[in-house]
Amino acid sequence: MIDVEEYNDWIAPIGRTLYIINTGEWRYQRPERDHKKCKKCGACFIFCPTGSVFVESSRYETDYEYCKGCGICARECRAGAILMVEEVTK
Ligand code: SF4
Ligand code: SF4
Repeated sequence: MIDVEEYNDWIAPIGRTLYIINTGEWRYQRPERDHKKCKKCGACFIFCPTGSVFVESSRYETDYEYCKGCGICARECRAGAILMVEEVTK
């Protein structure tokens, strides 16, 4: 069995195989959340394919270690609280 903590990486399905990949390295844009607009509906949490959305102190946040920048959370957010911006810090 693979020790995920040891690798500190994400196990991602590609095709019919699981690979150990840090999906955060794929990102060229990142979701920025406006907490004032957030209605706390949880849609970003439900639809994120990498499980990168989490709740901390009653706020939805993004784990940029694994967020691959697909933008699904921004598209699913009906409140318009998530904006995809260019990744500039990598
Ligand atoms: S989908 Fe938008 S409104 Fe809903 S919890 Fe996420 S950021 Fe907040
Ligand atoms: S951009 Fe994609 S991977 Fe990143 S938090 Fe949103 S849905 Fe998840």
